[in-house]
Amino acid sequence: MSEEVSEGKKITLLGATEIRQIAEQLGVVPSKSLGQNFVHDSNICEKIVRLAGITSKDRVVEIGPGLGSLSLSIARTGAHLIAVEIDDRLAKRLPQTLRDHGVSDRAFTVIVKDAMELTAEELAGSDPGERSIKVVANLPYNVSVPVLIHLLEMERIESAMVMVQSEVARRLAAKPGSKEYGVPSAKVAWYADATLSDSIPRAVFWPVPRVDSSLLQLRVHRPIAGSEDRRLTFEIIDAAFNQRRKMLRGSLSRLLTERAPDRGVEEFLERAGIDPTARAESISVEGFLSIARAIRASEH
Ligand code: SAM
Repeated sequence: MSEEVSEGKKITLLGATEIRQIAEQLGVVPSKSLGQNFVHDSNICEKIVRLAGITSKDRVVEIGPGLGSLSLSIARTGAHLIAVEIDDRLAKRLPQTLRDHGVSDRAFTVIVKDAMELTAEELAGSDPGERSIKVVANLPYNVSVPVLIHLLEMERIESAMVMVQSEVARRLAAKPGSKEYGVPSAKVAWYADATLSDSIPRAVFWPVPRVDSSLLQLRVHRPIAGSEDRRLTFEIIDAAFNQRRKMLRGSLSRLLTERAPDRGVEEFLERAGIDPTARAESISVEGFLSIARAIRASEH
């Protein structure tokens, strides 16, 4: 078993047998609705942390630490771990698992909470602004996209390396013009450059899921505009993709006539520099932003 020395202690990783034992002690039967597919292959955890480029200077937020396999790999780097877990049986047990494997109490914080309710203050902890915050997680499948967008919206994250369903990873990394480009791709592009990374074999999970998983890397860039513009841009993205086969002059007609009644829809889109006959799938997030800005300019 691989070992790393932290504060004079060796941090060891979780093996498959121990994972089952802890689950059994806790009486945990993996819940489908909470997306509980635990990784029981420590090589994969090490690989995720390596690809994420975690160093001892980082604060790392892990959404859904579960039984702690990925958490231990994060802790081995010397980074401060903030683990956010909704299942209180797992959250209560995690400190003991971390301690048993050589992680010092000062090196981690466990928050028992739905990640959708996590606040910017909790992300920053007692160390606001000092360290870069990175996300490393094997995200629960059913909430992976809203959780990612919620974390990005707080504007405290520098980067993320997350494991998600492969189909979701492809959609999040899709660029305008591709069939997979849609609402999540455009919204994530507001905050970050998304790149598809390695695919993960199903056999590393317990229980084995029915879908394939992949790693997705996000590198957060400077905000492309403020939150007022963002709110309206996201409304436009939702409306445009809600009728993705329609030309924008059709899919956005209701929103545009409500927000800017004295303008013709086509004239309005042209003023924003957007072809009214284009469809949502060919418009970049900057294109959607220019529509939002044209609307806001007409309201002043
Ligand atoms: N990180 C562990 C691993 O790789 O073995 C577990 C990953 S498992 C796919 C997802 C974890 O997220 C579970 O522990 C589950 O209880 C937790 N979870 C599910 N929904 C959550 C939510 N809304 N907020 C925080 N944690 C959540």
